[in-house]
Amino acid sequence: MNNQKVLDQLNRPLRDLRISVTDKCNFRCTYCMPAEIFGPDFEFLRRDQLLSFEELERLTRIFVETLGVQKIRITGGEPLMRKDLHLLISKINQIDGVEDIAMTTNGSLLPKYAEALKEAGLKRVSISLDSLKDEVFGKINGRGVTVQTVLDGIDAAAAAGIQVKINMVVKKGMNEDEIIPMARFFREKGHILRFIEFMDVGNTNKWKLDDVYTKKQIIEEINTVMPLEPIAPNYLGEVASRFRYVGSNDEVGVISSVSDAFCSSCNRARLSAEGKLYTCLFAANGHDIRTPLRTSLSDEELSTHLQQLWNGRNDRYSEERGHVKRDRSKVEMSHIGG
Ligand code: SAM
Ligand code: SF4
Ligand code: SF4
Repeated sequence: MNNQKVLDQLNRPLRDLRISVTDKCNFRCTYCMPAEIFGPDFEFLRRDQLLSFEELERLTRIFVETLGVQKIRITGGEPLMRKDLHLLISKINQIDGVEDIAMTTNGSLLPKYAEALKEAGLKRVSISLDSLKDEVFGKINGRGVTVQTVLDGIDAAAAAGIQVKINMVVKKGMNEDEIIPMARFFREKGHILRFIEFMDVGNTNKWKLDDVYTKKQIIEEINTVMPLEPIAPNYLGEVASRFRYVGSNDEVGVISSVSDAFCSSCNRARLSAEGKLYTCLFAANGHDIRTPLRTSLSDEELSTHLQQLWNGRNDRYSEERGHVKRDRSKVEMSHIGG
């Protein structure tokens, strides 16, 4: 199979594949899986609806060998809720052409799994933490999980030799007063912190533009206490704007998908746990890949199908937000993992 350059309608290549391995989570973050909707009666995917590790390995190989994917990110739901996840990481790590494997996690299960993940080839982990105050964090995660639980996960990953970054979703009225304490804390700890603007993903988190604390506000606030200077992106299509604390090499970032969209360089595709391919975080529908995977299509046929899907892509939701009126449902964040 040849690794031709596959471009979408806006000339964007595909480089980054985000694989959600489960729709389940042990947290109920208010902005992602609000407990009143994702309650005891909520029907999560059954085992046979999930793509198996063998299916995921095959698909990943096709994406890497024939569509140009170089980076893989494992996500969820909470990815560490998927049994034996290290076995999948290890399979993906052996695919020629995979340059980077990362994972996004809430960190709570890292003390148990960090060593095995590192051994399996996991290079980088983004750990989500939105507050350093137990009372606030317990409310945000909807399960009363303590800050220390996540800090233990962060330490376990770092001790295992996995590169750690921290993600903090900032929402007005929820945690904007913790921007400076979080920046200080993780600067001292030596981990890069990335602030994420509260996004209008899904349909259940009651998003309002007024609740968004913007990149500009975040940077201005830190700048008054610890002066910042911008630094160049590591690569084309990097989602975080990067900044350095003046006079040091310590870094901080902001992911500004609301106030400052980056669709023109978006080279990411997302695969949900049941095998739907989403070409945008805000897509209404995914393309069913499980059915073709489970019929007798050859690798070549599957590749052609995937290439056609990418060729047809013209998503640029964040750039259109605000001036294109939409009235439709969107996929939930816990389904495709951010
Ligand atoms: N459970 C894992 C975690 O929390 O890291 C992985 C999945 S989670 C959906 C991926 C990331 O999306 C997390 O950093 C989370 O904070 C972020 N996220 C979820 N809902 C969001 C929203 N409405 N706006 C911005 N970020 C969101
Ligand atoms: Fe779970 Fe992550 Fe969503 Fe929080 S953000 S509910 S930890 S999937
Ligand atoms: Fe990519 Fe869609 Fe986000 Fe734009 S809105 S950056 S196309 S995922």
